[in-house]
Amino acid sequence: MKQSQLFMPTLREVPSDADIKSHQMLLRAGFIRQNAAGIYSFLPLGKKVLQKVEAIVREEMNNAGSQEMMMPALQLADLWEESGRWQSYGPELMRLKDRHDRDFALGATHEEVITSIIRDEIKSYKKLPLNVYQIQTKFRDEKRPRFGLLRGREFIMKDAYSFHHTQESLDHTYETMKSAYSAIFSRLGLNFRSVLADSGSIGGKDNHEFMVLSEIGEDWIAYSSESDFAANIEMAPVHDTYTMPEGEELSFEPVDTGDARTIAEVAAKLECSEDTIIKSLLFIADGVPVLVLVRGDHEVNEIKLKNVLGADDLALASEQETLKVMGTAPGTIGPVNISSEIRVIADHAVKYVKNGICGANEESTHLKNVNMGRDASVERYEDIRFIKEGDPSPDGKGIIQFAKGIEVGHVFKLGKVYSEPMKAEFLDENGKNQTMIMGCYGIGVSRTLAAVAEENNDEKGLIWPLALAPFDVHVIAVNSKNTEQAEAADALYSQLKEAGYDCLYDDRPERAGVKFADADLIGVPLRVMAGKKAGEGIVELKVRKTGESYELPISEVLQAVK
Ligand code: ATP
Ligand code: MG
Ligand code: MG
Ligand code: MG
Repeated sequence: MKQSQLFMPTLREVPSDADIKSHQMLLRAGFIRQNAAGIYSFLPLGKKVLQKVEAIVREEMNNAGSQEMMMPALQLADLWEESGRWQSYGPELMRLKDRHDRDFALGATHEEVITSIIRDEIKSYKKLPLNVYQIQTKFRDEKRPRFGLLRGREFIMKDAYSFHHTQESLDHTYETMKSAYSAIFSRLGLNFRSVLADSGSIGGKDNHEFMVLSEIGEDWIAYSSESDFAANIEMAPVHDTYTMPEGEELSFEPVDTGDARTIAEVAAKLECSEDTIIKSLLFIADGVPVLVLVRGDHEVNEIKLKNVLGADDLALASEQETLKVMGTAPGTIGPVNISSEIRVIADHAVKYVKNGICGANEESTHLKNVNMGRDASVERYEDIRFIKEGDPSPDGKGIIQFAKGIEVGHVFKLGKVYSEPMKAEFLDENGKNQTMIMGCYGIGVSRTLAAVAEENNDEKGLIWPLALAPFDVHVIAVNSKNTEQAEAADALYSQLKEAGYDCLYDDRPERAGVKFADADLIGVPLRVMAGKKAGEGIVELKVRKTGESYELPISEVLQAVK
């Protein structure tokens, strides 16, 4: 591809609305453009990388015995009524009506559609197990679309669904899918972990997320330094969220609770009822656990967690950090929509209070699926044992460390959550009617692309691993107006193309500085530059990642690129 023909609108300035590296770089390098909040176009370079991610996903899914198909994005509401999710899914589901006034949803996920297809077509155990997948656009009206492709409202997902006649068969496929996921994320060069997870709105149990360890991750995971143990600290909400009247101001007032540790003691210190404390919210502000009290008089206070729980090493989070967690820029607090902000705190609170960081009690301390109210009660607050970084791992191997993660994949054992209400049934060996057992397996394809970009860049631009790079080699005529340089670059371009390399050729009549800056920005792994010594048959080869470069005769380029 000649760069003079390529649609690659680069930006010199960092876009003001992009606050993480991958988002900034993908915009600046002309890979993507935003059309609306959380809705993006992939420009030619972005589309090429996306196709490479898809190809790797496709190859590993096919290898693992899953069959590709394609389902509609536009889904009849009737199916969602059958599963019960038309009511339960909430505002993230994009809903619309056709001209006959029938309700539809834009697919946020496809359990309903696939279950309806399978129940109509599969009637016997002899046709099971079955594993199918698609790579397709999903729609979720996220409350906070952000970080570019990482949290979009329209995004590309690979979703697979498996159907089984026995639990053992599901267990087997689940392990096969986990291995396929590990293969995929390894090929993408990501630093990832598979972690125990909570099931969220999809239902079912027994599930793992694939997390890319990253500073900008939105999830917290606790993992062992020495074993495979790792768990998400995410939880379904357990506290009632507190709704403050709209328009009312939010104020923070640090409270000294002395050395009070139990609810009763804290309540006594603060001269409020224990009930008020129970409505308190515990959350993490930039890694620092903070307890916020929501009082009946609409005041919100933060107090030192260490005062409540005796964890001396936990510092008081600053008001700024607190505001950051609440999604409000420091210094701009004013009349905000309090009810939604409080809900954000509650989400974080619950994540912290439940699994991952605290266990139910000494005997059954565990890092997953501690369900407040079920496994632990708020009345027995003092029984909650907080697990801190440095504590022994629950499996006895190694110590616990915390890290932030980007959820790039998720595998679930759904069981009969969908097949039962939707009546996906088959006849078993004895001619008896049985309900199918299901699994589902998702990968955020566009999110994964962004995660790779996030982990592979420097101040100059993107640094693609070869497996995903939009081109294999970038040939540059340093000065296209110089005949010797142009001819050498032309020849190199033809040779490389002929040898099967996907080659980008910067043939533009631009200054060398502009060409080099663009090359750094786009991040093709290898660059061959025909410059001043082109007349002598010498060109320069440069590795984008390490910056190392050396001169070599044109005749040796093909060998060197290998
Ligand atoms: P999250 O916790 O980040 O909201 P999720 O748990 O809701 O994700 P799943 O329902 O498990 O997502 O969907 C499967 C995969 O789709 C996720 O693991 C993630 O990689 C991707 N994904 C989910 N939501 C988005 C989004 N808004 N933008 C981009 N990718 C997404
Ligand atoms: Mg989600
Ligand atoms: Mg999730
Ligand atoms: Mg998930």
